[in-house]
Amino acid sequence: MKTALVLGAGGFIGGHLVKRLKREGFWVRGVDLKFNEYAETEADDFVVGDLRDPYFVRQIIDRRFDEVYQLAADMGGAGYIFTGENDANVMHNSATINLNVLDVAHKRNIKRIFYSSSACMYPAYNQEDPDNPNCTEDSAYPAAPDSEYGWEKLFSERLYFAYGRNYGMEPRVARFHNIFGPEGTWTGGKEKAPAAMCRKVAMTPNGGEIEIWGDGLQTRSFLYIDECLDGVLRLTRSNFQGPVNIGSDEMVTINQLADMVADIAGKTIRKNNIPGPTGVRGRNSDNRLIEQMLNWRPSQPLRSGLEETYSWIERQVMRNAA
Ligand code: NAD
Repeated sequence: MKTALVLGAGGFIGGHLVKRLKREGFWVRGVDLKFNEYAETEADDFVVGDLRDPYFVRQIIDRRFDEVYQLAADMGGAGYIFTGENDANVMHNSATINLNVLDVAHKRNIKRIFYSSSACMYPAYNQEDPDNPNCTEDSAYPAAPDSEYGWEKLFSERLYFAYGRNYGMEPRVARFHNIFGPEGTWTGGKEKAPAAMCRKVAMTPNGGEIEIWGDGLQTRSFLYIDECLDGVLRLTRSNFQGPVNIGSDEMVTINQLADMVADIAGKTIRKNNIPGPTGVRGRNSDNRLIEQMLNWRPSQPLRSGLEETYSWIERQVMRNAA
């Protein structure tokens, strides 16, 4: 039986990845600071602990796994990573996890390891025009991410590739662009735009108003979780090491995102654009490299993923209110 290790398995993407690997017949060990809040884990072995602790990392990476996925990071949406209040923690915690994991994986002679970087590592100067952001993989330098979260991702990407060059490891690095779906954080300050929008619309009566950070003309693209996992597995099992974007190239403004969610909910909702953290002005996944190297592109429109997500978040809102 093939074995997989999922670090960050209590999180949104990690939780879904465990399920996918179980469906494929893997024996899976999941590791996280916490269990997933929204779904019971399907991992064969779920270890709760802190990957900042090198001794703990040696305990959980105790063998050669066929596939290793490193998704653990201190992260959140705009309210967490763009306010500046969590910069030291974000950089310290995530970098320490990656330093520990690579050190031990290398010593256990693990070769293939997937690492989730982020589109937040792209330079801010290429993302000032909301209609024409440039996020080609080779536009990363000269580096100028707009958040410390992005700088840590850039450092860690380089760390994974350094272990590849110096120790014969086989890193596979993806730059995720706004992954969303059911069973993700939807409240509490760490949620991202699609989940926040679904929650606000679900909590607002027909004819009401929701608040949107910024003028809402900032652009983004959003990729549904199932499609993200298709890309991750395809990359990990390929001979292409990346870095490569895993995202959707269906770009929308944040105001359009809000309108789409309201339409799915069947509600008329007014938008109140207020000052707030917004990140870069425009961002879109450039999918040319992944299409060329892996012959892969997302297959569903944003709306269908949002329908699934809205109905899950609406249920959470109703359960919380009950
Ligand atoms: P998430 O926050 O739901 O999952 C990350 C998990 O890491 C959490 O469950 C958290 O508890 C765990 N973790 C944090 N510190 C830990 C520690 N010290 N020890 C053990 N576990 C620890 O986030 P996600 O959306 O599932 O993202 C997974 C990965 O993908 C992250 O690396 C993130 O930076 C990256 N990413 C995600 C997106 C997105 O849109 N979701 C976009 C770009 C990059």
